[in-house]
Amino acid sequence: MTIPLLPNYLGGRWHTTSGPGTPLFDPVLGTELVRVGNTGLDLEAGFRFAREQGGAVLRALSYAQRAALLAAIVKVLQAHRDAYYDIATANSGTTAKDSAVDIDGGIFTLGYYAKQGEALGDARALLDGERIRMGKDPLFQTQHILQPTPGLALFINAFNFPSWGLWEKAAPALLSGVPVIVKPATATAWLTQRMVKDVIDANILPPGALSVVCGSSAGLMDQLQPFDVVSFTGSAETARLIRSHPAVASAGVRCNIEADSLNSALLDPSATADGEAFNLLVGEVVREMTVKAGQKCTAIRRVFVPRALFDAAAQAIATKLARTSVGNPRNETVRMGSLVSQEQKASVLEGIEKLRTEAEVLYDGRGAALVDADAAVAACVAPVLLGSREPAKAKLLHEVEVFGPVATLMAYDRIEQAFELIHRGEGSLVCSVYSADPAFIARTALELGSAHGRVHAISPDVAASQTGHGNVMPMSLHGGPGRAGGGEELGGLRALGFYHRRSAVQASSAALDALAAQAVALKY
Ligand code: NAP
Repeated sequence: MTIPLLPNYLGGRWHTTSGPGTPLFDPVLGTELVRVGNTGLDLEAGFRFAREQGGAVLRALSYAQRAALLAAIVKVLQAHRDAYYDIATANSGTTAKDSAVDIDGGIFTLGYYAKQGEALGDARALLDGERIRMGKDPLFQTQHILQPTPGLALFINAFNFPSWGLWEKAAPALLSGVPVIVKPATATAWLTQRMVKDVIDANILPPGALSVVCGSSAGLMDQLQPFDVVSFTGSAETARLIRSHPAVASAGVRCNIEADSLNSALLDPSATADGEAFNLLVGEVVREMTVKAGQKCTAIRRVFVPRALFDAAAQAIATKLARTSVGNPRNETVRMGSLVSQEQKASVLEGIEKLRTEAEVLYDGRGAALVDADAAVAACVAPVLLGSREPAKAKLLHEVEVFGPVATLMAYDRIEQAFELIHRGEGSLVCSVYSADPAFIARTALELGSAHGRVHAISPDVAASQTGHGNVMPMSLHGGPGRAGGGEELGGLRALGFYHRRSAVQASSAALDALAAQAVALKY
């Protein structure tokens, strides 16, 4: 059987690459699925086309017209959902429930921005805040405005969210009037390529508004020009290369980085082993360790509990983890599928060994047989719970992100010590706090907020309605300071800021009135 070589879409047309391409595999069965590559692709011409053709047509549309494009994309993607689930099962090794986080999460985010954009109406620019008097004369004032950047948006994405990773960025970019070129991570590029193909085939977007380049990343950053933006999601190591590329370092290309992080969960010091906060923490930790086999940038990696509850928490989490059947996601009894590749499996196994130098093993599911999968072939790794009773003495536990179903339980004696240990993550995407006490939650939010993109509080009154520690919702900010990359995404209409340029217009009230008639006030 000939393995198909996926074409790239750039410069308003499809290109079949020359050369053999790079194979993509089924991480459970080990079979080759498709190939990707971009040898011979004229990146320079393609980027210029996106910038000049796609950008010009998009910017000529109003926010409401662009929002309608997003709504049309939602319809196309919904019509092909079944195919996306098949690709995710085959290429990402995820169960249907886990694929939904990526596929339906992406579609939901697009739909959210379609609605938000519709409300912005016929305008093509945004008013940012109120007018401010510049001096004594009340007639001379300044008004900040936001306009779409006259460049393109390059997305260099991670392997774990081939759908959501594209659409959570493309929705605000396209709504802003900025054309998108996506370079998916090679291991799982198929789903991204297929979704882009469906949207292109449906003829919804102007030529050049959406392009996909699979395979090597070589030369992509070299194409960027001052008004372009680049959004990178992936490891801290690659992030360093992106940041130091001359396009970013010298030419002023705006750059957003979402990198790895050591997210925490914190149990209230006054919790008890028979209390609801304790049970909520246990349930959430198990969910975070097992959803997408722990391959979520937001997953809980460090779990802080009062010392007196360390053993009870270890036992409760282990009992639940032991019920997690691992194996072939096509088998309906399987709760957790595989990692995306043999490389990731090797990296997770190596990471566990690293952490073990500072931690004890509280639960190791790796002894159990896989369901419908050959352990020698499948990239499956069962959950592992590690533990540290002296986390203040540990170093690696606060530094090494093992991107799989692995977390470390840590004991703390005083809440100030827990805060200090959480801060050792040096900036994370999210911290969740489990407590029935609103005052404790408020204090924790203020103690930890500046080191996290998001503080997620789970109290008994929101047990049923809370959206999950690791779930990124479009109305809330995603990103984190410091080690997490320092990026910001989503957060409702805040996301539009990255794709707009802000300027101050200093003029008479009459001129600002005329300006205001052509723009819409941005309200968060
Ligand atoms: P990665 O190896 O850094 O790769 C990320 C992307 O960068 C891929 O598309 C990759 O292409 C590309 N790339 C590699 N070298 C490059 C270079 N020199 N120049 C330009 N692009 C280059 O990361 P990953 O292994 O895919 O992703 C896992 C990591 O991402 C985890 O650490 C996780 O925490 C993090 N992550 C963070 C978030 C977040 O929102 N904060 C979300 C998801 C994942 P190839 O695949 O072709 O090499």
